[in-house]
Amino acid sequence: MVSKNELTRRITNAQNSLNNIENSILLVTPGPNLRYLTDYKAKNLERLTCLAISKDRKPILVVPELEKLAALGAGIDEDIFDLVTWKEGSNPYDLFNNFEIEKVFIDEKMTADKLLAFQNVFNKSIFINASKVMTPLRSVKSNYEIEELKNVGKMIDLVHDDMSKIIQPGMNEIEVSKKIGNKILEVGHETVDFVIVASGNNSASPHHEPSNKIIESGDVVVIDIGGTSYSGYCSDSTRTYTIGKPDKDFIQYYEILKSAQESACQAVKKVLSGQQLDNVAREILENNGLGKYFTHRTGHGIGLETHEEPYVVSTNKNQLVSGNAFSIEPGFYIENKFGARIEDIIVKKENGFLRCNDSSRELVEI
Ligand code: ZN
Ligand code: ZN
Repeated sequence: MVSKNELTRRITNAQNSLNNIENSILLVTPGPNLRYLTDYKAKNLERLTCLAISKDRKPILVVPELEKLAALGAGIDEDIFDLVTWKEGSNPYDLFNNFEIEKVFIDEKMTADKLLAFQNVFNKSIFINASKVMTPLRSVKSNYEIEELKNVGKMIDLVHDDMSKIIQPGMNEIEVSKKIGNKILEVGHETVDFVIVASGNNSASPHHEPSNKIIESGDVVVIDIGGTSYSGYCSDSTRTYTIGKPDKDFIQYYEILKSAQESACQAVKKVLSGQQLDNVAREILENNGLGKYFTHRTGHGIGLETHEEPYVVSTNKNQLVSGNAFSIEPGFYIENKFGARIEDIIVKKENGFLRCNDSSRELVEI
C-alpha cells in the first residue's frame, strides 16, 4: 500500500504543477492516473467516479453513493480527500456547476461520454491533456515505486526460470501460453497482461499472437510476458529459447543481440537522451548487418502501465533522469526465418542503473 506521506507528496506535486496556471482543475477518472493519485483501483463504470484537484483546495473524490464503501474499503483517507457521493438518479456533473475554471486538465484515459459531459459543464474553459501534469510526476519513480518494480520483476523472472519445464516440444503455442499465464498468477501477479509465444517462423513477428502451431525441434521461441502486481506495478520481460540446437547463423546473430542489449543497459549510467540510448543498441546491430531487422524502438517506460513515458526511441530528445524506469529490448526479426529479443526493465540511478530482471540472458536450449 502507498503510504499516506507518499500519497500526500504526489498530490502536492500535482497541485504545484497547477499552481502557476490560474483557475485550473485536474480531472482524473478511473485508470492509472487515479491509481497514482489515490491508490484506489476504482472500476471504470458508466457512473462517474472522478478526482478533482485544484490548488489551495482539498482534493475532491466524487463517487457514486453505492461505491462509497468500496472506496473507503480500498483505503481512501478522508484526511486527504473530501469524499463526495452522488445519488442514483441525480446528475453528478451538477456538482461542478459552481466552479469558475479557465483551464481543465483532463485525464487522457477518460472515456468520451464523461469528457463530453465535462465539456458541457465547463463550456467556457480550455481543455488540456492532463498528461502535461501527470507525465513528469509518474515518469520519475519514488523509492517505493522502484521497490515495487523490483518485486514484480523478480516475479516474472520466476516464470522465465521455469520455462524449460513449461515448454515441451509437441505442444502448440496456445497450450504453452495458457501454462505461462497460470504460472504468472502463481508467482504472485494479480493479472496476466500479455503472453507472447512466438515459435519457428513466427518468432520473426514481434507481437505474434499465440497460434496452434506446434513447437518442434530446431525452433526458436521468443517468450515476452508481463503481468500486474497487487500494488498495480507492471512486469515485462522477454527471453529467447531454442528447442534443441538452433541454426548456426542464429547463434551468431543472438550473440550480437546480447551485446547490443548489454551495451544499452550499461549506457544508462551516462547522461543521455532516449534517442541516444536507442542509438546505442541500434548501432551495434547496424554495424553487424542486423540493423534492418531491428524494426522497433529500443524501449518504453513502465510503472502503473506497461507502456508509458519515457520512450527509448529516436524521437525522444529529452534527457533520461534518475528514477526513470524503462525497458531495454532490442531484437532482430528476419521474415520466414527466425527472430529474437532480449528485454529487461531498467531503473536509471545517479551515475548508475538498477536491473529489475535477472533471469539468464543466454540462449536457453530446451
Ligand atoms: Zn515485453
Ligand atoms: Zn516491453
